Amino acid sequence: MCGIIGYIGYQEAYPILIKGLHRLEYRGYDSAGIALINRENNLSIYKAKGRVADLEEFSLGKDISGTVGIAHTRWATHGEPNHINAHPHYSQSENLALIHNGIIENYAVLKESLSRKGYVFQSDTDTEVLVQLIEYIKTGNNTDISTAVQLALKQVIGAYAIAVIEKENPDLIIAARKSSPLVVGIGKNEFFLASDATPIIEYTNQVIYLNDEEIAVIHRNEPLRIVNLSNVEKTPQITRLEMSLNELEKGGYPHFMLKEIFEQPRTLRDCMSGRVNTGNRNIVLSGIVDHREKFINCRRIIILACGTSWHAGLIGEYLFEEFCRIPVEVEYSSEFRYRHPVIHRDDIVIAVSQSGETADTLAAIELAKEAGAFVYGICNVVGSSIPRNTDSGSYTHVGPEIGVASTKAFTAQVAVLVMMALSIAREKKTIPEKRFLAVLSELSRIPGKIETILQQNGYIEDLSKIFTYAHNFIYLGRGYGYPVAIEGALKLKEISYIHAEGYPAAEMKHGPIALIDNEMPVVVIATDSTTYDKMISNIQEIKARKGRILAIVNKSDCKVREMADYTIEIPDTEECLSPLLSIVPLQLLSYHIAVRKGRDVDMPRNLAKSVTVE
Ligand code: GLU
Repeated sequence: MCGIIGYIGYQEAYPILIKGLHRLEYRGYDSAGIALINRENNLSIYKAKGRVADLEEFSLGKDISGTVGIAHTRWATHGEPNHINAHPHYSQSENLALIHNGIIENYAVLKESLSRKGYVFQSDTDTEVLVQLIEYIKTGNNTDISTAVQLALKQVIGAYAIAVIEKENPDLIIAARKSSPLVVGIGKNEFFLASDATPIIEYTNQVIYLNDEEIAVIHRNEPLRIVNLSNVEKTPQITRLEMSLNELEKGGYPHFMLKEIFEQPRTLRDCMSGRVNTGNRNIVLSGIVDHREKFINCRRIIILACGTSWHAGLIGEYLFEEFCRIPVEVEYSSEFRYRHPVIHRDDIVIAVSQSGETADTLAAIELAKEAGAFVYGICNVVGSSIPRNTDSGSYTHVGPEIGVASTKAFTAQVAVLVMMALSIAREKKTIPEKRFLAVLSELSRIPGKIETILQQNGYIEDLSKIFTYAHNFIYLGRGYGYPVAIEGALKLKEISYIHAEGYPAAEMKHGPIALIDNEMPVVVIATDSTTYDKMISNIQEIKARKGRILAIVNKSDCKVREMADYTIEIPDTEECLSPLLSIVPLQLLSYHIAVRKGRDVDMPRNLAKSVTVE
C-alpha cells in the first residue's frame, strides 16, 4: 500500500503534492510526508503521523517553496506508524530523500552490512535501508544518482515503487518500480509521478505506466528517459487517460462509500453496456470471443482473489458450475501461491482484483502462467498491472472506487462473472436457450431493481439505530446467499469495527449457534431460492434461541417476514442474480451503523484500499 507522488516543472510543487496526497490517501493514512528542494538548493523534509491534514498543519510557517518534490502517505509494514518511520527518508548525508511503496524483503541483511560500514539508521523501516544503500553505492562508486539507483535495486529482493531526489541535482527525479504501481504523467514542461493516475488527471491525460524493473529518469526540460536495471533504454509507451475529474469528487454525498453505493445502477449499466444486448439476445465479452476455444475446452477454472473480490469469486464458482458445468476452485491468492498448487495447461485462471495491483494475486498469476494456464483478469483500474500481465480479461468499468470498503466494484465483478458464465455456457451448449434468454433479460433489469432498493435508504438508516450498539453480528445465507452473507459481514467489520461472522446457514449447527442469545443480531439472506425451505428451518433454530433476526426477503415473501424481527425487502429476481440485489441493503446497513458510531467510513483504521504488499 502507501501512496507516492512526485512533481518537477515550473509550478510550486507543494500544493500539487498535497492535493495529490489527498487523492492517494485511500492507500494508507498512518503518516504523511513531503520532501522539497528550494531555489537555494536546500532539501527539506516535513512529515507527520496521521493524515495529510496533519502534515499540512505541521508545514504551516515552514519553507514550502520549490518546483521539485516528492511526497508519501503511508500504510506501515515495517516499523510503527509514527513520525520517525514516516517517509520520505533521508540518506545519512541528508543529500538524498526517498519515498517507497512496497517491502524490501532482504532489508535486514542489507541493514546489517551497511551498519558495519558505519551507516546509522534513524527509523525501523525497510525503506531507509534502500536510501542508505543508494548513497553508499553512489559515493563508493563515484557514480551519478541514476546509476546508483540501478545498482542498488539489483541488490534488492522485494517490491518497490520509489522516487528519489538529490539536493545537488534539483532538476531530476529518479523513479522505479517492481510489483508496486507507478505512473508518470507528461505535462508541458513538467512531469508528475504517482501510484495511480488520480492525482495526475487534472494536469495531463498523457501517462506512462512503468513496467517492472524500469527506471524513469525525469529531468526538468528534457524528454523522459526510461531504462531497465541493466541500463537498456526503453521506448516510453504513452497512454491517454479516459478518467474524468468529477469521478474523483464526492458529488454532494457525505462519503465516497455512500456515493459509490448509490452509483451502482449506473455502474452496472456501464459494465453491461455494449456487452449485454437484449435486442439481438446476446452477450459479447471480447475477452471471451477472442479465446472461445480455450473456454470451451478448459477442464477446470481456478478463481484467484483476496477480500471482497474473493467473495465475488465464490459467486463465480456457483455460476460456472451451474451454467457451464466446469469444475471451479476459488482460492485466496496468498494461500495458493505458497502451497505448490497443481495447475494444468488446460486450466483457466481468473484473477479478480479491483485495483489490478493486489500483490498476492499478481504473484499467483505468475505461477499460473509458468504452469502454462490461460489467465483472465477481472479488474477495475484500467492499465493496472493485472490486466497488463494476463492473457485476456474484462474491465468492470465502474470508474474510480475511492471508499476503502468495496461496493460498486463488487457488484460489477459479479456482473462480469454472470456475463462470462452465460456466454461460455451458451458456447458450450450447457444452458437451454430459453433459460439463457430469461437470465439475460433479467440481468438487464437489475440496475432498475437496485434503484428501488436504494429508495429504502431512509428506512435502513432507521433500522441501523437498533443495531448500532451490538458487539457481534452473525450473517447467514445458503447457496448464492452464502457469499453475500460473508461479504455483508466483512462490510460491517471493515467500517464499523463490530465483530461479524458470515456462515453458510446450515453450518451454524456445527458451532456458531452457541453464540446466539437475545443480544445477537442475526442477518439472514432469505430470498427465494432452491433452499428457501431449508433456510426457514435455520431461522426457526435461531428463533428458538431468541436471536434477533433481520431478514433480507423478496417482495413476494410471506413466510420469513412472519418469523423475522425486522425485514428489508428486495425485488424478486433470478436466484443466480440475487447477490446483485441482496448485497445492496447490507452495504447501506453497514454504512449507517458505521456513521452512527462516528467511524471514518472512507478511511477505516488499519486498512488501505489496494493491497500492493504481501
Ligand atoms: N515498507 C514501507 C514502510 O513500512 C512501505 C509500506 C507500504 O508500501 O505499504 O514504511
